Amino acid sequence: MQQVTLNNGVEMPILGFGVYQIPPEQTEQTVSEALAAGYRLLDTAASYGNEEAVGRAIRNSGIPRGELFVTTKLWVQDAPAEANTKRAFETSLAKLGLDYLDLYLMHQPYGDVYGQWRAMEDLNREGRAKAIGVANFYPDRLLDLTLNNDITPAVNQIETHPFFQRAADQELMREHGVQIQSWGGFAEGKNDLFTQPLLSEIGAKHDKSVAQVVLRWLTQRGVVAIPKSVRAERMAENIDVFDFELTNEQMAQISTLDTGSSLFFDHHDPEMVTWLAKRRLDG
Ligand code: NAP
Repeated sequence: MQQVTLNNGVEMPILGFGVYQIPPEQTEQTVSEALAAGYRLLDTAASYGNEEAVGRAIRNSGIPRGELFVTTKLWVQDAPAEANTKRAFETSLAKLGLDYLDLYLMHQPYGDVYGQWRAMEDLNREGRAKAIGVANFYPDRLLDLTLNNDITPAVNQIETHPFFQRAADQELMREHGVQIQSWGGFAEGKNDLFTQPLLSEIGAKHDKSVAQVVLRWLTQRGVVAIPKSVRAERMAENIDVFDFELTNEQMAQISTLDTGSSLFFDHHDPEMVTWLAKRRLDG
């Protein structure tokens, strides 16, 4: 598997497996199948409610810990953010049954972001989280955090797919040493992505599916992708994207699909900010 090198030297697979919206009772089996299919990067979150099942699949796989890259995410913490962030980290680690994380992400740019980040910096310095980063940070928030703290986020995981491509954001992140990671790489199938005519036509030329074209397009741009599927045949399909290359012309054609806006929600919408900022997790 091709790797990207993060700003602190940590190596991260360019393609991994996401487990959002996989019910906890289905997660162990699904992650076991993903590991068997060859995925080594697993992306979960405290808010997905399935960390324990991910941990069971990791333990049962017998794969040496050093060969895996495990990410989980911190939900918005109550004050005092420093103490609560460290407590949330220990809870996630215990649920996963691990003694360190490869990547710990702040899930949302809300709450006492600075207090949360200082605690994450400590976890990083102690080696408990090999890399720390953020998710859902638009450029203004990302730069504010980056310019006013010691440790630059290694990763920003943001909505990135053919209909919201984030090229300018990616360029800004590159300038500041922040690796872009895509969530919702298939836009969760919105806008009929899997039958989109241009992507289908390009796929036919390479004897590949639309899903494979999208993952190739992301990884060819240097974007880390974490497709989710509960179906073993799709897991195999989604990791089989390194034996072909999109031409410059095809990359340029795909860039015309960009609408420049989210298909999910706007992190600047007061109603959404209120909902996300007030949501609290149990345990
Ligand atoms: P996604 O990967 O864009 O799309 C998943 C959907 O595509 C599922 O409905 C899946 O169905 C379908 N699918 C997968 N492979 C397919 C294929 N080859 N052909 C046809 N359909 C296929 O959506 P996502 O899960 O939202 O995003 C990926 C990961 O990003 C998440 O799992 C999570 O780890 C992360 N994420 C992070 C955030 C954040 O705020 N940081 C937000 C959202 C997601 P089946 O499962 O039925 O195959």
